[in-house]
Amino acid sequence: MPVVALNELNVYESAEARFEIAARKLDLEDGLYRYLKYPSKEITVYVPVALDSGRLEVFIGYRVLHSAVRGPGKGGIRFAPNVTLDEVRALAAWMTWKCAVVNIPFGGAKGGVICDPSTLSKTELERVTRRYTAELSEWLGPERDIPAPDIGTNDQIMAWVMDTYSMHVGQATTAVVTGKPLELGGSQGRKEATGRGLMICANRAVEKLKMKCGDCTAVVQGFGNVGSQASLLMHEAGYKIVGVADIHGGLYNEKGFDIPRLYDWVYNQGRPLPEFPAGGERMSAQEILFRQCDVLVPAATENQITSENAHRLDCRILCEGANGPTTAYADPVIEQKGIFIIPDILGNAGGVTVSYFEWVQDRQGFFWRENEVNERLTDVMQQSFDQVVNYAETHHVNNRIAAYILAIDRVARALKLRGFYA
Ligand code: NAD
Repeated sequence: MPVVALNELNVYESAEARFEIAARKLDLEDGLYRYLKYPSKEITVYVPVALDSGRLEVFIGYRVLHSAVRGPGKGGIRFAPNVTLDEVRALAAWMTWKCAVVNIPFGGAKGGVICDPSTLSKTELERVTRRYTAELSEWLGPERDIPAPDIGTNDQIMAWVMDTYSMHVGQATTAVVTGKPLELGGSQGRKEATGRGLMICANRAVEKLKMKCGDCTAVVQGFGNVGSQASLLMHEAGYKIVGVADIHGGLYNEKGFDIPRLYDWVYNQGRPLPEFPAGGERMSAQEILFRQCDVLVPAATENQITSENAHRLDCRILCEGANGPTTAYADPVIEQKGIFIIPDILGNAGGVTVSYFEWVQDRQGFFWRENEVNERLTDVMQQSFDQVVNYAETHHVNNRIAAYILAIDRVARALKLRGFYA
């Protein structure tokens, strides 16, 4: 079936193209197709903030609620200079499908503010966060729409979101946001959750291909929350991490990297990743994707693997940590190469799964031990992986389309049961 995105690098069109293929295979009724294709709500907010210099700046922010059919909207807030409404729309739709793939009772949402957090002071960031949250206070809520961290945001920013929302509603409301610090109702295991989910999926795929993780090499692009945690956990599980990269560049070393030392170098010593002294060949952050490895984990950003370069991939398993690292036009090339795909809406769903656990714990006011969180996460990820792969094998589609079909089917069934109001 032909891919229908017009502009390969427009992530919204890439997301739509996969939706389109899956919806056709599912023979989705026309009305349901239209209902699920479009977001439920979109808002643009203009966020006035006094900078430390006294100058008044106005930042543009978005929040898109794609679907609240299976539960409240759920999705991160991204602070980055290149945020666009189309990108936020795509990310919101992916959240709907992701929550449905792992069968947790959330819909999909996403938010973003066009800003460069690296150029803002801590107090400026706090003001941007608080005013953005205040503008959205009617939209957000534990039963409406629950943000979380994404690129450029972290647990401190989530704490400010929680505090601002709480001030507006007049009571401490921890469950309005996830990815919070532990002291404010965060969950054990949340920081590692996306990386752990990736590792659980990679392990399952390795087993399926009759390999052993102790014999496998891996390349990880991105060394932020997702990439660093995935690298640490995979290293601990026995994978030899031969390639790493962040925005400053990539490093390849066939002997493998000492990942805890690299983590210390980047996070405790604050040094640039490509200058890690243990050696390795330096290259661009994108070039690392094409080095030979068993498991490739793109965990940085969108549109890294395209129709132009997908033929250069040299991995057995592509385990997607970032949202949308592969364009829709690259999908057929990857399929032809016989690469086993763990699509983003499955691979990186560990983060939202533990966010769901955090929301449950906040609402219960009762907190779980880290091993309980990790055990429950393992159950969810393994079961979801098996469902996607079984579906793909039974219906002769690739894993990505199988994940979309499972997800769309779950949302469509819920929608039919609810019926259409008015
Ligand atoms: P982050 O901001 O913590 O880290 C991003 C990392 O990618 C940094 O190391 C940065 O240097 C690197 N990077 C950015 N642009 C790059 C480029 N062009 N080439 C190479 N490296 C580049 O963000 P994060 O939370 O780790 O998120 C990474 C991806 O994972 C995003 O696509 C995000 O939407 C997705 N994701 C995150 C979570 C989560 O729990 N944080 C959950 C699901 C999906």
